[in-house]
Amino acid sequence: MKYAAPRGTKDILPNETPLWQWVEAACREVFELYNYKEIRTPVFEATELFSRSIGTSTDIVKKEMYTFPDRKGRSLTLRPEETAPVVRACLENNLISPDNLVKLYYFGPMFRYERPQAGRQRQFHQAGVEAFGSADPLLDAEVIQMSVKLFEKLGLKDLEVDINSVGCPKCQPKFREAIKKYFTQNITKMCADCQERLEQNPLRILDCKEPVCQKYIEKAPAASDYLDPECKDNFEQVLKSLESLKVRYRVNDRLVRGLDYYTMTTFEVVSKQLGAQNAVCGGGRYDDLVAELGGKPTPAMGFAVGLERVIEIIRQLKIENRQLKIGIELFVATIGEEARKVGFDLITKARENGISSDIDYLGKSLKAQMKAADRMNAKYVYIIGEDEIVKRSAALKNMKTAEQKEVGFDGLIAEIRKGVK
Ligand code: ATP
Ligand code: MG
Repeated sequence: MKYAAPRGTKDILPNETPLWQWVEAACREVFELYNYKEIRTPVFEATELFSRSIGTSTDIVKKEMYTFPDRKGRSLTLRPEETAPVVRACLENNLISPDNLVKLYYFGPMFRYERPQAGRQRQFHQAGVEAFGSADPLLDAEVIQMSVKLFEKLGLKDLEVDINSVGCPKCQPKFREAIKKYFTQNITKMCADCQERLEQNPLRILDCKEPVCQKYIEKAPAASDYLDPECKDNFEQVLKSLESLKVRYRVNDRLVRGLDYYTMTTFEVVSKQLGAQNAVCGGGRYDDLVAELGGKPTPAMGFAVGLERVIEIIRQLKIENRQLKIGIELFVATIGEEARKVGFDLITKARENGISSDIDYLGKSLKAQMKAADRMNAKYVYIIGEDEIVKRSAALKNMKTAEQKEVGFDGLIAEIRKGVK
């Protein structure tokens, strides 16, 4: 092969796109049910937007960004995540105002230079939401519930909502100090990354996936012991609201997430169906990010779903979705040049009437055309030869039942509509 897709990227092929479209449609439906509106932003942004928001000592900024100078020497970065671009777009377009709750959702490819493995690519796709303008713990619960509803709609089971509070800028430093003090004792036995994290960003150690570090992480101090009374109370309210919404959760006091902008509530939805990369969704509050990026202080909350991982689970579970539209409604098989002309007029008319249809362009035999129609997953095949042209009527074959029925040219569209319903 002369050319291959770049390492860590994948083509999504025509036999896979129906599942993607189905998942995307479910996301839209659920997000819109909760009054979120779609936003689309460029796939690249000024590098500083990400270093500033995600944090210069996070893995993403330190080693995972696709950063390049453009022809004028400006540093640009392919977006590794979408929260910062959404905040940037909202500020630039004045979408955030003090008395409004702004609810937005997005889809799109994200880019991170990571080691490719199962569930981890360098270009992957997320669907996500961001809500700006309210610190109400009920909003936290609603956002988390929405993610669960989405996964239920997609037929995913054995999911677990892990939740934690990482505190506010007032209490987080105390927790950070405690973490730093605790890990200092054993840091020489931990991985090289954690040794660096200890100085730059000790909370990140809790997010380390290296096996050698796990036994130290397990015994680390819990964020909950360092929350100030307001943060504690807020977290309890979030949990209570989740209970009243009947969302099952597990408080996981190791959960800190890989981005620096999170405050208070953080959560992840984990699937027991996936291997090591088992998080399908991550999110939380980021009450200081809007101000950090130049806006007025605005509390905010959101999450991002990893679509490749969701799709992998759906595949493994073989969740049947009858809604998947993977075929056409009508194939017109023709014998002879004249029949092809007539057939072409018929598919043109069918398409004008919203019926997906096709015809042979390769001069195939009737048998080969029937095979092709089968491969296209055509619901009906209409077979036209010389006699049929004369009587303006032909056999319509239902490909599933193999039943044939004589249908006049003029009645074809009505007949297919009847069957397709
Ligand atoms: P992880 O701990 O799995 O690396 P993360 O904390 O880096 O996840 P987020 O930045 O919160 O993830 O992104 C949200 C979701 O996007 C993740 O839960 C995951 O499903 C998906 N995701 C993140 N990175 C990748 C990747 N490299 N390839 C595929 N999906 C990814
Ligand atoms: Mg990651």
